[in-house]
Amino acid sequence: MSEKKPSRPPMDHVEFRKIGKETVDYIADYLETVQTRPVYPGVQPGYLRRLIPAEAPQDPETWEDVFADVERVIMPGVTHWHSPDFHAYFAPGNSYPSQLGDMLCNALGCVGFSWAASPACTELETVVLDWLGKMLQLPEHLLAGTAGAGGGVIQGTASEAILVALLSARTKVIQREREADPESSDHDVMKKLVAYSSDQAHSCVDKAAMIAAVKLRKLPTDSDFALRGTTLSAAMEEDKANGLIPFFSCATLGTTPSCAFDKLLEIGPVCCEENMWLHIDAAYAGSAFICPEYRPLLDGVEFADSFNLNPHKWLRVNFDCSTMWVRNRADVVDAFNVDPLYLRHDNQGLVTDYRHWQIPLGRRFRSLKLWFVLRMFGVKGLQQYIRKHVSLAKEFESLVLSDDRFEVSAKVVMGLVCFRLKGPNNLSERLLQKINETRKIFMVPAKLRDTYVIRFAICAATTESSDIVHAWNIIREQADEILTGVKNGI
Ligand code: PLP
Repeated sequence: MSEKKPSRPPMDHVEFRKIGKETVDYIADYLETVQTRPVYPGVQPGYLRRLIPAEAPQDPETWEDVFADVERVIMPGVTHWHSPDFHAYFAPGNSYPSQLGDMLCNALGCVGFSWAASPACTELETVVLDWLGKMLQLPEHLLAGTAGAGGGVIQGTASEAILVALLSARTKVIQREREADPESSDHDVMKKLVAYSSDQAHSCVDKAAMIAAVKLRKLPTDSDFALRGTTLSAAMEEDKANGLIPFFSCATLGTTPSCAFDKLLEIGPVCCEENMWLHIDAAYAGSAFICPEYRPLLDGVEFADSFNLNPHKWLRVNFDCSTMWVRNRADVVDAFNVDPLYLRHDNQGLVTDYRHWQIPLGRRFRSLKLWFVLRMFGVKGLQQYIRKHVSLAKEFESLVLSDDRFEVSAKVVMGLVCFRLKGPNNLSERLLQKINETRKIFMVPAKLRDTYVIRFAICAATTESSDIVHAWNIIREQADEILTGVKNGI
């Protein structure tokens, strides 16, 4: 460590201007050259503890000392999500307008739990969610600037959006059941509640049901991994016959394992008929609905009580930004309204207080980055980005189909291709392990029923056709080695 000790606060305005600009340069250099780094780190668990002291320093350190540790300590353990060689999970959002929005959000540092806590924070969020809602052609009743009772909110993650929807639905059904039977208690109702999703839904639906202490039935899907209306209604009839109360259904548009689309136009009417809350989780694929050619996949959204998508996945917005719309804001506010004196203000009741729409009290000014992105890309720029990702996925699909040792395991609709080596699962398991060990590209697997598949997701904003060819060459080389080994009995 250097001997220099700053005697004043760690950084004043003058130093911040200089160092801040240098840090922006470092960030731009990092993103510009990210592909020169191995996409997956080569470190072992616990690597970091050995590189830094066991305790925080008593005396201040200099920025030079701190910043040097970014390359020494941090970078060796970073998985480079924005590298064109990253093909795991789903696309992570990133763009400079979004990063600037987050910088400004941090600088303003307001904690916009109520309108009064920072009016711009609340008002921009409401308006920008209407903008995005209109880009998605959402029904008017989900928007705030209409005569309807709905509106949009930014949650941190899809997991939170789904939990908020589930808890709101639970509160609503408990009220309804207790009005019908005033002798009953919350507990009497809760133990009968049952929620539904497909067996392809994200694990955050299981987690939400766990937290809400309600049963969740994960229903089987059709040959395209989509939940059908008949499956849902048969399950509900069975549960009702057993004295249970179906109250919530989560449909997924763009499932995590294979990007499948539940049949909303079948599920919607079933939920409506049963007076059951319908939530739509379109965490990844939802962004694509800004393109008219993909919008039909959202048909049936008019049946939904709530809907979420993650601009922090596929709309150039950095984590965290999960947009959620609800049909009736009172349903959410009823479930989350606590109102101590110290949080009240003069305009209470006349304006939106987003603290009643979410689990935590505090909230960041996240709409700034979304606003910057929508304005600086424009709808056309964002459509172009989505279309490019889908066409790169189609290109990869063609390469897989051109090699008869491989098969494509699910329909390719968006920027995800599920593929595998023909034959037993362990071949594809070994293939993925060998590929990831090269640290040249990074992918993750999924199970589609009993079939092990490798997920190839188009992730980085800078991915080009040459990166698809590069990835395919690595996959083929590793497959050659495995299949030669199998032939030779190794
Ligand atoms: N739903 C779907 C369909 C997803 O693919 C994911 C994550 O990939 C989630 C929910 C969870 O997202 P989050 O990390 O925003 O909670």
